Amino acid sequence: MRRNTCVIAGGGPAGAMLALLLARAGVEVTLLEKHDDFLRDFRGDTIHPSTLQILDELGLAEDFHRLPHRKTYEMEIQTDDATVPVANLRGLKGKYQYIAFVPQWEFLDLLTTAAKRYPNFRLIMEAEVHGVIREDDAVRGVRYRDTSGEHELRATLTVAADGRHSDVRRAAGLVPVEHSAPMDVVWFRLPREASDPRTTFLRVSNGHMMVSINRETYWQLAYLIPKGGFEALRSRGIEGVREPVAKILPFLEDRVGRLRGFEDVSVLSVALNRLRRWHRPGLLVIGDAAHAMSPVFGVGINLAVQDAVAAANLLAGPLAAGTPIPESLLARVQRRRTPPTVITQFAQRLVQNRLIRPALTEHPRPVRLPRDVSRLPLIGRLARRFIGLGVLPEHISSPVESHQV
Ligand SMILES: Cc1cc2nc3c(=O)[nH]c(=O)nc-3n(C[C@H](O)[C@H](O)[C@H](O)COP(=O)(O)OP(=O)(O)OC[C@H]3O[C@@H](n4cnc5c(N)ncnc54)[C@H](O)[C@@H]3O)c2cc1C
Repeated sequence: MRRNTCVIAGGGPAGAMLALLLARAGVEVTLLEKHDDFLRDFRGDTIHPSTLQILDELGLAEDFHRLPHRKTYEMEIQTDDATVPVANLRGLKGKYQYIAFVPQWEFLDLLTTAAKRYPNFRLIMEAEVHGVIREDDAVRGVRYRDTSGEHELRATLTVAADGRHSDVRRAAGLVPVEHSAPMDVVWFRLPREASDPRTTFLRVSNGHMMVSINRETYWQLAYLIPKGGFEALRSRGIEGVREPVAKILPFLEDRVGRLRGFEDVSVLSVALNRLRRWHRPGLLVIGDAAHAMSPVFGVGINLAVQDAVAAANLLAGPLAAGTPIPESLLARVQRRRTPPTVITQFAQRLVQNRLIRPALTEHPRPVRLPRDVSRLPLIGRLARRFIGLGVLPEHISSPVESHQV
């Protein structure tokens, strides 16, 4: 029998989930991650019901719920004069009616630990992919460097899951179509005290927007600034960050001084884009590498996971069986995942243009929202489904062939 192999560039949610599903199906799979751990704060934290359902189907839900996490059943926006519920996940069909906030490195550790139980899985950390091997107009693997030097890894299928700045995508000559985003995000953390609010919420005030994520012992804060505005913010000194925090989150006023300077904050440039074509012969692009998601709705991780499940459902069987993987099969993955991607990005752009852009202009208009969006029956149901399960939620149908060790 011909032996098929798969190499995946990027150990984010898309790459880690696909590696686990392929390993479980008996495919020889290698996951290459350029960092030496999964500990990075810029990653989102939200595991939505669609992903919880996938973990359940994998038998990992119990392990997941043992990780330190917070459950959020309702999403709210706090304006200057009201707290507005925008989606209430209670009542969602299925077992999971909440978003679990888990530091992403814990989630990635869980997936890669599960994958390591299969002898046909290999994880190489500090392995940076910088090129693809091409033969007869097809991609036949990758070139990467790790601590021991330069390497080539040949594979039947190469998957680019290396995020929105994808090196593999660039090496393969694929260029995404960009849509503008009105904001960048400044990340930082401040200590949390027992008397602080317990919820995770979006605070909107004239000219300011702040996402406040409760991580029990500290707040992970995301301050939205106008696109490209970081240098202007920096020129005002760290007071430029402390001041709005104290103003719109007064319970943090006594602690903003803990931000010593710009060494305590990081800036993340928001991108929203999509590839026209997610494949080449021998190559598939998934997750943010195929479609960078805006942080709006916090669904990027979940879309990346859904891409991985769809890819495994279509490819794991033929890969494990040693049959050829024609490009038409890779095109089916794109066809399956394009509608959810397009619809989600459309909704993100709507929020960016209608809510965020006007709020971040020099002369912002006061933000007015309907009192309780979640109680308008149709909108409430749609918002619940859209945020909780997404469009066209996937279920695992890839085979289980490999035995755990
Ligand atoms: C400010 C901001 C906040 C966000 N918040 C949320 C949120 O709360 N919830 C949510 O669901 N989504 C959120 N998102 C979106 C989310 O982070 C992404 O959509 C999601 O992480 C995409 O997963 P991925 O696996 O495709 O890519 P990534 O998570 O980007 O993973 C790519 C991996 O590839 C590795 N890599 C990169 N280049 C190479 C290389 N050359 N060789 C080997 N490895 C490489 C990287 O180190 C990384 O581990 C946010 C996005 C932004 C910009």
